[in-house]
Amino acid sequence: MAVQQNKVSKSRRNMRRAHDSLSAANPNECTNCGEQKRPHHICPSCGHYATREVIVADAVEMDEDAA
Ligand SMILES: [Zn+2]
Repeated sequence: MAVQQNKVSKSRRNMRRAHDSLSAANPNECTNCGEQKRPHHICPSCGHYATREVIVADAVEMDEDAA
């Protein structure tokens, strides 16, 4: 087992953790359905991207038929 050579003070520990906070997500509104979505990602609710590309919902049904 590794044993620490020096005790890390509360101050130094807290200074290290000062950079550990998570930044908040920055969602955009989907231009097609208005749902909140991640920037530069396909909309999870309607499958649109940049108002033109579409994930066809039938693709899921085709996989079910194949299985
Ligand atoms: Zn959408």
